[in-house]
Amino acid sequence: MSNLDPKPMTVALDGEEAEAGDFAPVMARKAPVGESTTVARYFPNRARTTVGAWCFLDHYGPDDVAGGPGMRVGPHPHTGLQTVTWLVEGEVVHHDSLGNRQTIRPGQLDLMTAGSGIAHAERSPAARPPILHGLQLWVALPDAHRDVAPAFEHHPSPPKVDLDGARATVLVGEVAGARSTATAFSPLVGADLDVWGRTAVPLEPGYEHAVLVTAGRVAVEGRPLVAGACVYLGRGRDRLGVAADPAGRVVLLGGEPLGEPLVMWWNFVGRTSDEVAEARADWEAGRRFGHVSGDPAERIAAPAFPAGRLRARGPGPRPPR
Ligand code: MN
Repeated sequence: MSNLDPKPMTVALDGEEAEAGDFAPVMARKAPVGESTTVARYFPNRARTTVGAWCFLDHYGPDDVAGGPGMRVGPHPHTGLQTVTWLVEGEVVHHDSLGNRQTIRPGQLDLMTAGSGIAHAERSPAARPPILHGLQLWVALPDAHRDVAPAFEHHPSPPKVDLDGARATVLVGEVAGARSTATAFSPLVGADLDVWGRTAVPLEPGYEHAVLVTAGRVAVEGRPLVAGACVYLGRGRDRLGVAADPAGRVVLLGGEPLGEPLVMWWNFVGRTSDEVAEARADWEAGRRFGHVSGDPAERIAAPAFPAGRLRARGPGPRPPR
């Protein structure tokens, strides 16, 4: 997924992001992605940039893609991050500059490690289910690993664990003894919770966590949340009470607070303004990121680099819609 905001927000962290109070709502803003998809973008935003190393959360759909073009995101670059694709409904085809071509379906996990640089494209296949509904997440790579070689993983059947009233599918990290084999570079957890009763999900208390309800209505720690609600839960929890009647879906995200400065701009996660400018220049010049073959769309041109240097910003006005 690409950040197609013509004037993408620059996000910088000083590594000491304030810990918002427990149960702080994370508000989404609408953002265009590709030629025909609108997403709800929960973070980064002014109030919340990361949850552990999770540094980007888009939720799209459920959208009717039977009549329209569906998702059409042409070739675009990434650095310094991993992308995680997780579908609730529908199908998406991924192509990348390493030559991977993969169709992803609900219940499957795509994990792309950009590292030093990769390009990819994502689109709805010509023959597709009528509804598209999913998540696109980014994980910031810690400094020691952010220049790793690019890689792509498709996990057709991530591990599941029954929690008596819920079933967790573990995307990244570990839940109740079930461990994902997805490659992670920092202490991290990501899980989809299919909830039909009442249960407590064990958590790592050293992690900070957030939840996003993707379907139905789910009470989290006794507070009723509807689909689309996202809440930051802070640190120090060793369990999370969830309950649904009759059923709902929740995505749980968490990790050890990254504690590293980040400069995020467009599709790049770096540490300095110059480094991000260089990634942009390399993409525009056709260097570093390789070629995405097999996708009919034009490569996506980078937006203009902001005047001056990218730098940290404190709390300020909300970004334009
Ligand atoms: Mn992307």
